[in-house]
Amino acid sequence: MVKMYYENEAKLDILKGKTIAVIGYGSQGHSQAQNLRDSGLKVIIGLRQGKSWEVAEADGFEVYSVGEATQKADFIQILLPDERQGKVYAEEIAPYLTEGKTLSFSHGFNIHFGQIVAPKNVDVMLVAPKGPGHLVRRVYVEGGGVPGLFAIQQDATGNAREIALAYANGIGAARSGVLETSFREETETDLFGEQAVLCGGASELVKAGFETLVEAGYQPEIAYFECLHELKLIVDLMYEGGLSRMRYSISDTAQYGDFMIGRRIITDETRKEMKKVLKEIQDGEFARNWILENQANRPVFNAIARQEEEHQIEKVGAELRGMMSWLNKK
Ligand code: NDP
Ligand code: MG
Ligand code: MG
Repeated sequence: MVKMYYENEAKLDILKGKTIAVIGYGSQGHSQAQNLRDSGLKVIIGLRQGKSWEVAEADGFEVYSVGEATQKADFIQILLPDERQGKVYAEEIAPYLTEGKTLSFSHGFNIHFGQIVAPKNVDVMLVAPKGPGHLVRRVYVEGGGVPGLFAIQQDATGNAREIALAYANGIGAARSGVLETSFREETETDLFGEQAVLCGGASELVKAGFETLVEAGYQPEIAYFECLHELKLIVDLMYEGGLSRMRYSISDTAQYGDFMIGRRIITDETRKEMKKVLKEIQDGEFARNWILENQANRPVFNAIARQEEEHQIEKVGAELRGMMSWLNKK
């Protein structure tokens, strides 16, 4: 088993009395900032004027421009959208990133692909909860923590590991376990996971199943429940007890279908394509495309987003979920 760090080895002490600037107050920013504050650490927020600024103030934080927050802080956690980090770093963070400060991220993209190059006299690290921002907050409030990763890119002070573990404790991750990775491993596995399995793979699988049933003349509502709605129930079982628990709970008929048919859906061709996708991540091709797409103001991203919103599964789903009033009460 790989070494996991828990609260007893991830002491908060080294961050006590220090100022942490959380830059960005979106999905990760709001949850990490609030968890750190509830863990007894001093947190300020760095933002531009806008929606998040008001939200952060309403949540009781001192909010500053990115430059000012960087100036005031010892530890700077960058939680801006990945595609904006390079520009904001160069213009508003780098000028105030003085010797001995900590520059930290929750995703390694910009450091790993060379979009941000930090000076040699600061610590550079990554501390990432392995879960969406809103869960990071909810689970912490309930007394738990979303597990986390940390990686050290540059240890200028000699204390980088201790600092990273303290931060991981502050956001609640050390309650569930924190494990060490590298910028390379975090960046490549995170991109691969979201592209091939969690987001890209899962949404295409759902749509393909839905379309197959609807084209064969079945009611779209039935197809929606079968191919999208029920997926959550299945995934919940996997999350609680792995594939075995899911298979224990489903019927033997379903389990036989699982064994016989799954490998006809995810074929050798699919696995070959997965390897290709991984290679394009590793050799920087995906990063380059995403960076250029942003520089061109996202023509492809916007076009596909529109098509996807217009897909029949979204229309049917919105109507059905409208009837399930209990569903979004949270
Ligand atoms: P969001 O898009 O949810 O939030 C971005 C925040 O940055 C907003 O508060 C936004 O404020 C602010 N912002 C945007 N542009 C600027 C700017 N030019 N100057 C100042 N503030 C700005 O981002 P996420 O939380 O999803 O992602 C943050 C990081 O966390 C990324 O590196 C991501 O990869 C990583 N991560 C995200 C996860 C998630 O659950 N979403 C999971 C694990 C890692 P405004 O209201 O003004 O736009
Ligand atoms: Mg990601
Ligand atoms: Mg069934």
